[in-house]
Amino acid sequence: MSEAVTNAIVHAYPDEAGPVSMRLRILEGNVLELTVRDRGRGIEDVARAMEPMYSTGGDDRSGMGFTIMESFTDGLRVRSAPGRGTTVTMTKRVRSKALS
Ligand code: ATP
Ligand code: MG
Repeated sequence: MSEAVTNAIVHAYPDEAGPVSMRLRILEGNVLELTVRDRGRGIEDVARAMEPMYSTGGDDRSGMGFTIMESFTDGLRVRSAPGRGTTVTMTKRVRSKALS
């Protein structure tokens, strides 16, 4: 979640601040779904952007954000259109807490 929001702040709106929305919900089957959406610059080639070590950022960026999101979730979907923004949806099956 933090990485997706950081991406929106850093990449979607490089020169100004802009809206970032988050939606968290529990789907059937104890699946947590997290959605982070921005209306910023967008991504031209999503598949390429999701490759490990690919970054359009500066030296302080390693290009591992999407790879990390992928490895910590059960599902990661990125929808984006240049000039129109990006929506990142992550799902993760969670275990319900045992009641004592
Ligand atoms: P790191 O996350 O390791 O600091 P990074 O942010 O460049 O580096 P990723 O998070 O994997 O690496 O993102 C890869 C690339 O995808 C970014 O460099 C940027 O070009 C593009 N990108 C990611 N999120 C967005 C976004 N919300 N809007 C526009 N471009 C994005
Ligand atoms: Mg990143």
